[in-house]
Formats: sequence, C-alpha cells, structure tokens
Amino acid sequence: MAIEDQLVSFVKPPVTQPQKNVWGKGKGRTYKRHSVERDCKKFSGFRTLRKIVNAAPDDLIRAFIAFLWATGGRVTETLNLKKEMFTLNTNADPPILVVDNVPLEKCFKKKAEYFECKLCGGLGPKARECRLCGADLVANGRRRYVTEKVEKSRNEFFIGLDDPFADIILKWLKHCDDYLFLNPMTQRPFSRKWAYVQVRDIGSKLKLEAEAKKRHGEVCDESIELWPHRFRAERASYLGTFLSAHSLLEYFTWEHWATAKKYSKKGALGLAKEVGVKVQIE
Ligand SMILES: [Zn+2]
Repeated sequence: MAIEDQLVSFVKPPVTQPQKNVWGKGKGRTYKRHSVERDCKKFSGFRTLRKIVNAAPDDLIRAFIAFLWATGGRVTETLNLKKEMFTLNTNADPPILVVDNVPLEKCFKKKAEYFECKLCGGLGPKARECRLCGADLVANGRRRYVTEKVEKSRNEFFIGLDDPFADIILKWLKHCDDYLFLNPMTQRPFSRKWAYVQVRDIGSKLKLEAEAKKRHGEVCDESIELWPHRFRAERASYLGTFLSAHSLLEYFTWEHWATAKKYSKKGALGLAKEVGVKVQIE
C-alpha cells in the first residue's frame, strides 16, 4: 500500500478531555487544559473525595465518580465498564471485587513510518528531499508514524470493599444489567463530553460553596480543580502510599515506570511515612 493511502487510516490517539466546546452553551469556548503532573501533586484524601462524591446531583453521577476513583480507569474505560467484569470475592478478608477484562484505551501499534516536511507540511516516505518543495528532509523533516489500534485488556485488579465508596459501587452493580453507564436515549454508554461536563459542574459547585464560606468568614478547605482524569492520579497516588512500584505498574497495566512517576505522587506526608513518621492519611 502506498504511504499516502496508509495515511488516510492514520489513527489519532484520543485526547483525555475535549479541546473546545463545539455546541450548546458556551460554544467556541476553549476548555482549560489540565495536567495530572502539574495539578495533582498528592492524594487529596478521603475527606475531599467524600465531599466531591456527596456533591454529585444524583445516584448515576455519584456512581460514576466512585467507579472513576476505585478503578483508576481512563474516562472512556470507565464509561464502557460492564457488570460482567466484576466478581465479588467474599473469601478475602476484607472482601474484594476482582475486576477483569477491562478493554484498554490508547493502545497503538506502529505500522509504518513516514516523514513530514517542516517547511511545506508535505508528507512522504523517508527520503533525502521533500517531493513538494525540495527541502532537505535530514534537516527539515519530522518523523511520523502510521499507527493501528490494538485490542488489549487491562491486567486483573481489585477494589477493596473497605474502600469508602464500596457501598456506592456495590449498589450500582446490583442496579445494572450490562453497561454500567448506559445512556437511555442512545442505548450506548455516555460520552466523554458528558463525563467531562458532570465532573466540571461538581467542581464549579464546590468552588462556589467554598467562596461563600470564605465570605462568611468560615474556615474551608481549598477547593480543588476537577476533571475526570484527575481521579486516575488520585487513585494512583493513594495506592502508591502502600503498593510497591512494581505492583503499581501491574495494577494500572502501565509499561513504563515514567507513567507511574507522572501519576503517583506521595506528597510530603507519604514521604515522611517512609522514614517512620506516623501519619494518618484521611
Ligand atoms: Zn516540503
């Protein structure tokens, strides 16, 4: 197949949040870019998580936040969860939910390599000169890849039923038959955009509450920036306080230690715990 034909099938990896509002209220507004590396420096604690879960307007959104946190999954992975992926193990003490066969998003295989000319944007196979403008591609070319999506599942992992949100999770599993987050209008799982808006609205609500408290001179916790992917970093940072680095990679099916470093941060208390300081992470 000619490289130009292959480029048609070029798969762009999904982004973790929408870039721009293209319809409805606030059309044309660019969404704020979030980064777990920059904006989530440690586990925020169960008190904060409880506050977030309690601020959800209904059972569906409460359950969605609980599953986002407890599985540490990406947004699309969480939206596509099915009841059959969860098995209750009551022989464990405390009991656990074993989660298996969760399809992984963002798995791509390199199929072919091509070059992009930095001067004219022309695409082509690796060559010395650009076919369109004749520029020297050794100096002005950028390597690009044609990728293919690979079907892969996450390693099996567990959710402890001593987890503060276990009751919400069990109740929701009982309530569902197949997909956990099915949109009744489309009979398909809810979209990433839906997830993003729900989480953002809870964040705005908490921010308003915190500002009102401050105005009345009450002490309040600093409100935190909320977006769906944050819960993955919260989960990784929490698990990182007791799982070994190796187990953390297995839990999330991460291939590289660099990913774990990006998501899981112990913070000052977690680090202090390691040298024997007694700390209560609440
Ligand atoms: Zn060129």
